[in-house]
Amino acid sequence: MSDLREPRTVKCSFCGRDGSEVTSMVAGPDVYICDICIKTSVDILKNNISTYPKKETFSSTLTPDMIKKNLDEFVIDQDLAKKILAVAVYNHYKRINASSSLFEMDEVEIEKSNILLIGPTGVGKTLLAQTLARILDVPFAIADATTLTEAGYVGDDVETVLVRLLQAADYNLEKAQKGIVYIDEIDKIARKSESTSITRDVSGEGVQQALLKILEGTVAGVPPRGGRKHPEQSLINVNTKNILFICGGAFEGIESVIASRINKNIIGFDSNIASPTETDRDGIIQKAQPEDLVKYGLIPELVGRLPIIAPLHSLNAKAMKNILTEPKNAIIKQYQKLFGMEGVELQFDQSAFEEIVKKAVERKTGARALRSIVEGILLDIMYELPTKENVDKCLITKDVVSKGEKPVYIESDRKTA
Ligand code: ADP
Repeated sequence: MSDLREPRTVKCSFCGRDGSEVTSMVAGPDVYICDICIKTSVDILKNNISTYPKKETFSSTLTPDMIKKNLDEFVIDQDLAKKILAVAVYNHYKRINASSSLFEMDEVEIEKSNILLIGPTGVGKTLLAQTLARILDVPFAIADATTLTEAGYVGDDVETVLVRLLQAADYNLEKAQKGIVYIDEIDKIARKSESTSITRDVSGEGVQQALLKILEGTVAGVPPRGGRKHPEQSLINVNTKNILFICGGAFEGIESVIASRINKNIIGFDSNIASPTETDRDGIIQKAQPEDLVKYGLIPELVGRLPIIAPLHSLNAKAMKNILTEPKNAIIKQYQKLFGMEGVELQFDQSAFEEIVKKAVERKTGARALRSIVEGILLDIMYELPTKENVDKCLITKDVVSKGEKPVYIESDRKTA
């Protein structure tokens, strides 16, 4: 195609106007189209866009409600966070799909909204981000903010996050550029004090600045597969404009920042009567606002790039018990499957579950402790089971958990008969 302005003899193949009547004329093989007809065509296309057969894109297939229901299958509780995430992710991919269509010509550009998850350790922040990526079938990478450094310092510089995403996308650049990155422990790179430069944690702030760049959208050069063998080998340019960043952190102590802002005198916060309960904290964290995060030590620009705040609450005993047994790939289901491969049915008494939960609660690491506790209980059993004959069922009682007693083996006479 070329732009022909000169020859007056050329006529638009659509409206018949000749070169003298229009501003410009675009030529194709043996055809011409004038600028007036191009504009009319674009208007028609824009008007008809809703009647277009929709491309099978994410936003046209998964509604926020469907995303939430999918999350429910893997993540227990955290309804508010799930809802916020479902809407945010729906809008995010709608925005990406729209920008690859004629809506691009609109003047209103929808900005990317990255997400911040706030909540204690082990309550499902990473799991939510990971599950979202799986539901949406997009590449996913995790990074720990505390291991990131500014370029030029020892450690992983911020761009390595993009390397991991590219790896997760099997070096498919287009896919990677629509992926999800989870940055854990974002609270740990907060500067220590809001105002004074003497106590400023300079490196933390440097990392925040570096993160800010990729969060807001930049083109970052990333080494190709296997690293750059030669200095002249070109880097892969990853555009982060459409990458969804989900940051997570416990933000320990932010309750008092929030409480002092809302000037609410919550028992335990400003006195030494008692320490605040988890429920107190959960309630206050739900009220977190961007200004609280700045007070906590995140730079305002970074907070500005994390406009969606989703609070997660601590998990009570009932939720912990559900985590053991309910999700699609629940820990207990996994071990039952393993035992099943041995021809043994694995069963737990309710009181055994309660004991496991009790132990997990004592560790104060949310649901994170559950797996290692169950693994610890089952280790000896898994060690001796393959050499035992005739076992049909293995019953875990409370005493197996609390006193390390042997489980009840229920035997059949299958093999001896
Ligand atoms: P964090 O909030 O610190 O990111 P994670 O998401 O890594 O916590 O949780 C650690 C582990 O605990 C998960 O791998 C999962 O097995 C379990 N877990 C935590 N919260 C939940 C939850 N709400 N539902 C199901 N499992 C959970």
